[in-house]
Amino acid sequence: MKNILVTGGCGFIGSNFVKIITKDDSNYFPVILDSLTYAGNKNNLSDLDNKSYIFVKGDICDISLLDWLFEKYCFDGVFHFAAESHVDRSIDGPGEFINTNIIGTYNLLEISRKYYKAGKENFKFIHVSTDEVYGDLDDGDYFNESTPYKPSSPYSASKASSDHLARAWFRTYELPVMVTNCSNNYGPLQFPEKLIPLMIINCLDLKDLPVYGDGQNIRDWLYVDDHCRAIKTIYENGLVGETYNIGGNNEIKNIDIVNTICSILDELRPLENGKSYSGQIKFVNDRPGHDFRYAINAEKIQKELNWFPIESFETGIKKTVEWYLKNERWWRVIQNKTYKQERLGENI
Ligand code: NAD
Repeated sequence: MKNILVTGGCGFIGSNFVKIITKDDSNYFPVILDSLTYAGNKNNLSDLDNKSYIFVKGDICDISLLDWLFEKYCFDGVFHFAAESHVDRSIDGPGEFINTNIIGTYNLLEISRKYYKAGKENFKFIHVSTDEVYGDLDDGDYFNESTPYKPSSPYSASKASSDHLARAWFRTYELPVMVTNCSNNYGPLQFPEKLIPLMIINCLDLKDLPVYGDGQNIRDWLYVDDHCRAIKTIYENGLVGETYNIGGNNEIKNIDIVNTICSILDELRPLENGKSYSGQIKFVNDRPGHDFRYAINAEKIQKELNWFPIESFETGIKKTVEWYLKNERWWRVIQNKTYKQERLGENI
């Protein structure tokens, strides 16, 4: 059995990753470290057998806690998901992004270095990052692993800093690090501040569907399970010191995403008045510094590690809408306690 540390395992991607890594005949035993910020939710782990993982509530900035965990569990790997992850919140309050994303990552790298040096062979550190570090693109261009960094938001700048730290710890200290830069994820358990769940929930609550600017901004979308399988593949077969871009070749305009969600809901949960949910679309002020287009060239992971996405956007978005319809209790609890779909990121 491999003991692995999964930071941020109660968040959206981290919890989906833990589900995938503990499936069936898994030989992974995850220790989940999560400070349960507004975005962390222990209920995200509720369908797991509670003997298949350990949960520790704690902060990646707490170095003595990290020391204790590494001493106790002798980790074979670290999967570092924990982060402040929402661009709009980083505009309103960048401080936590600097703290968690930069200082927290530094702490994890330093502790990993100490234990690796002490003789933990085969140890690997997977640093999970985003394509937003590359900034925005003109039509026809794609991000590859050597695209220069040009982050636009406090979120992407803090993730870019953490990527640089991770690579420097490989180059300088020979810590076996791999960096992943993935496009926008969607799927079950995503906190409703993000575009897709926000639109689904606002449809169901008969609220406006706020589309930033003219809705023409383009993102490259990947179903969360495909991202999680890519991370597992990279841990098992990737080369240390390398960076892997992960993406699904699904470039879609924001307005088209919103219209797709509306038409799926028109079919699955038709409005009593017979109209389409798309009547709720409302164009609102754009996000400050909004990147226009992201698009990933994922040839390296496809060719070298034989990873390909399983889900198309059509199948993935249908599954996602169905999940939010079936799991209304999950998001109603969040709505009642933490976030009522208010506009964020205008506080400049
Ligand atoms: P999320 O916001 O849903 O989850 C983050 C988790 O980290 C939460 O459970 C939170 O409680 C925890 N956390 C935050 N600060 C912490 C701290 N100081 N100590 C311990 N735990 C802490 O984020 P997500 O969407 O699941 O993203 C996970 C990772 O993947 C992030 O590093 C993000 O940058 C990266 N990423 C996300 C996307 C995406 O589309 N969501 C795409 C590419 C990369």
